[in-house]
Amino acid sequence: MSFFVDGCTVLPLIRPVAEPFIAYRVALADHRLSVVRVEAFVYGLGAGRLVLRAPENETGSSLVPINLSAAAAGVALDIRERDGAWHIKTRSPDFVFSYDVVLTIEDRYSPDVRSMLTFMGEDRCRILGRDVFLVPEAPFASGVIVDMDLFPGRGLSSSAPAVRERVIVPDTGELSRTMAAAGAYRFFEREIGGTALSLAIGDTWSFGDEEFFGVLCRIVAEELALLGPPPQSRYLFICERNPVRGAARFDYYGIHYGGSMLLLLDSRIDRGALMDAPMAVVAHEFFHNWNGETLAGGDDAFLWFTEGATVYCSYRILVRANVLSPEQHAAHRRTVIARYRANPHRERVAVGEAGNSDMWDKDMVNLLYDGGYLAAEALDERIRAETDGASGLIDVIRYLHERSSRPNAGGEAALVAAVADLGGADISRFLGELIHTPNPRELADRFSILECADER
Ligand SMILES: [Zn+2]
Repeated sequence: MSFFVDGCTVLPLIRPVAEPFIAYRVALADHRLSVVRVEAFVYGLGAGRLVLRAPENETGSSLVPINLSAAAAGVALDIRERDGAWHIKTRSPDFVFSYDVVLTIEDRYSPDVRSMLTFMGEDRCRILGRDVFLVPEAPFASGVIVDMDLFPGRGLSSSAPAVRERVIVPDTGELSRTMAAAGAYRFFEREIGGTALSLAIGDTWSFGDEEFFGVLCRIVAEELALLGPPPQSRYLFICERNPVRGAARFDYYGIHYGGSMLLLLDSRIDRGALMDAPMAVVAHEFFHNWNGETLAGGDDAFLWFTEGATVYCSYRILVRANVLSPEQHAAHRRTVIARYRANPHRERVAVGEAGNSDMWDKDMVNLLYDGGYLAAEALDERIRAETDGASGLIDVIRYLHERSSRPNAGGEAALVAAVADLGGADISRFLGELIHTPNPRELADRFSILECADER
């Protein structure tokens, strides 16, 4: 079926024949109040009803459609809200439904940005599907069209393929995970080893956009070379100013969601940051493509690995890609060890349990990341020793990722099995002490590097 009508933005003219088909249009309704209007054009659906649901974010909340209505040939259709879904009684195969959504979060200056990734600015916006789209339960033809009439003619880039302001989402199941950046961003595209990368960068920086994209591509290329094909064929990076202020503020952080990487950097960082620790956010978020939820296999006590091994490996990747010098790497490692030694929870909370504890406590977050980093380092050393240098932690992650579609392919048991498969011994006792004992010897031994530095 062909539905690419190049240059045509008049959606009702598209008349597919065989399968039911849906096309959305998103437009600004009230810029000052950050309200967008969503219209959806449904074609060729069998008689009966269409059930719409609002996708949930990780905090369990979801968008609230305002003024939801539906009509066929100008006649209003009946809509009932039941069990958290909206049921439209259809009377003909073709109809339209529409609603408004308010895109503000209560406090822009808090880490809430993680649950509301959508952002509406003066001259640009980033929109994540789950924040704006009611998703139909019925099966629709592959290739959902989304026309983003938000900042027409000013450019757009998406985690799904896009032509001008039109995004083509592979299917309705992907709609909630699709991100688009539109308006006054600068856009860059490159393909590396079959993986399409795009960057939408906003705000002004001490470094050039091309320089930044060059470093980003180098890091991605290094990870692709080490770990093989990532789960998606396209990735969208969006770089902008970190809006989080106050006590919870970090100088830079990243959020990885499906094929989108949000990089929030401090606008005051100097040009040297391009070859320093802030680039770890690129390596870290992209590394989660391999070491993410699937490798955890639902094991909550595996967060030390999901995060710790990702931090540890991403710094090593920055050295390999010549973004960090070995001296910068050593200085970073010393900072991690010093912060871990000074952590008030270190003597009573094991690294594996840090992930299950109070994540609003910054020291607990640090215990997870710093302890996780050092545990991953200890594990890497152990794997190298066990396999006479033939394999390291990254090889184990690649191995686990390649098998991640099999049952029981994630969590601690799978990690132990992977090391054995790659020629190592049974590391279950070693890992048990490293992860489930507070302040294990393996990690405390690393403090000696700080004493040597203190004496100098
Ligand atoms: Zn992470």
